Amino acid sequence: MMEKLDELYREVILEHYQRPARKGELPSPTVSVNGANPLCGDELAYQMKLDGGRIAQIRFAGKGCAISQAAASMLADELEGKTPEQARALIRSLKAMMQGQEPASPDELGELSALEGVRKFPVRVKCAALSWNVVEQALDSHEKAGK
Ligand code: ZN
Repeated sequence: MMEKLDELYREVILEHYQRPARKGELPSPTVSVNGANPLCGDELAYQMKLDGGRIAQIRFAGKGCAISQAAASMLADELEGKTPEQARALIRSLKAMMQGQEPASPDELGELSALEGVRKFPVRVKCAALSWNVVEQALDSHEKAGK
């Protein structure tokens, strides 16, 4: 399926797959959540350190296809430094993009817009969506813990 993706998208995705940003572990994460996409065998774990109302640090670990791991890397890259509200807004935009809607602001998604080509392949959308589904769970569990 990779060969059917637009060349530019493919480069960004392969770059993140081969040299992932923010892969690793945090010494004392505030939240730690993992998930899997059994359809493809993708596994993903996110750790976040929340500090001062922001995602001060985010790291991921996982294995699986290029789409799932590249999406995890790009999302981690975009989320570090954002507030949980900004993170949720970004995830809403990602979901909208996957449903074929134009993003509210074109720059908002950064490199994640490379995933747009994936929406032509519904099975692969689940690979990409694993990353933001796990992040949402992490944000949910952080909010619950704070109450
Ligand atoms: Zn996959």
